[in-house]
Amino acid sequence: MQDCITQIDHYLYRIFPITRSITGWGNRETLRILQEIVPLEIKEYSSGQHVYDWVIPKEWNVKDAWIKNSKGEKIVDFKKNNLHLVSYSVPVHTKLMFSELKKHLHYREELPEAIPYRTTYYEETWGFCVSYNDLMLFHENEEYEVHVDSSLTNGSLSIGELLIQGKSSKEYLISTYICHPSMANDNLSGVVMTAFLAKELLKKKQNFSYRIIFVPETIGAIAYCANNEKAIKKIDCGFVVTTVGGPGQFGYKQSFDKDHFINRIIEQTFKENNKDYITYPFDIHGSDERQYSSPGFRINMATICKDRYYEYDYYHTSLDDLNFVKAAKINDSLMLYLETISKLDKNIIYKTQYSCEAMLSKHGLYPKAGGSLLPGNPKINDLEKILWFLFYCDGKTDMFEISEKLNTDIESLYSISHELEDKGVIVGI
Ligand code: ZN
Repeated sequence: MQDCITQIDHYLYRIFPITRSITGWGNRETLRILQEIVPLEIKEYSSGQHVYDWVIPKEWNVKDAWIKNSKGEKIVDFKKNNLHLVSYSVPVHTKLMFSELKKHLHYREELPEAIPYRTTYYEETWGFCVSYNDLMLFHENEEYEVHVDSSLTNGSLSIGELLIQGKSSKEYLISTYICHPSMANDNLSGVVMTAFLAKELLKKKQNFSYRIIFVPETIGAIAYCANNEKAIKKIDCGFVVTTVGGPGQFGYKQSFDKDHFINRIIEQTFKENNKDYITYPFDIHGSDERQYSSPGFRINMATICKDRYYEYDYYHTSLDDLNFVKAAKINDSLMLYLETISKLDKNIIYKTQYSCEAMLSKHGLYPKAGGSLLPGNPKINDLEKILWFLFYCDGKTDMFEISEKLNTDIESLYSISHELEDKGVIVGI
């Protein structure tokens, strides 16, 4: 485990400073680094492509950006912190008085140390973000030189995709977003954790298949759905991985159908691990679950998180850094995801092969001496479990629901289902 935490830490520090946005070389660079962990395929969707009601924007890249005071001193420098520049700022080089410049400055008075995170994806303007403390370095009657060396060109939007083929072609979707620059909980923690989650899933053959994607939020998810519509429409449920590395409490955001098995399985995982957790009911505010749950797809996307977005003071600021987020916390979240997915992977729907009860003795499943089946004999429980299990193998009831009905865990039912499947009594559908 320590090895895994060390590796997570290594990638956090490497990927944190890269300038990411909804497009640009920083996203490609991030995906290339993640390829060291898992064999992601990097795909490019061209600027100008229509994806449902949206158009993939021009590709944005930045070489440099700064503000100098009248003495020629750089008082805001993108190279020191990429959050200083509003994401998607258009190029500009000008001199202007503070009263004009102020309209382009963003700050958080109530969090004076923090540089806020701002974007201007769909409005052609420019802006800088500064801490409230640094705003005090500006003076009303001073002229400032502003320089943004950015480019907006016909390029592409980059995404990372890993398809893990299981025994069944039925897929679960796992999606995380790569568009945030130097902020650790939202969402570098989600990006790195998802890569390590994929690495673990690749270690053994899974029952189900997993579609794991790294996309810029909103436009990336929409572009991915538009370019993979047939596959996405077949998916029933999955996860949006975000904010998994904070110091606070675990929580989970329910998918839109609160009774869906993915929500019940997550709750069971928390309970089995004696973790206190906050339940966040589904809400259209949040992340890409809104896209995947929209009427065209209706995928039940849930999120297990630790210091969820919106909920912590440092959210969308430079204080959401690697002092706030620790690899060990990300690893704790990874363990919860893996346990939950281990249950999901067993959540098979079986159908009995016989219209009536299977002759268990023929399959070596019924104790030969009937007289041994006395109350209190542990074999009764096993036999009853098999009989009840077969009773529910109707081709409609999933393993998790059966485990709830029988007040048992999905793991113990899984060993029964394996045996029954091997002997041809049931078949997974
Ligand atoms: Zn965010």
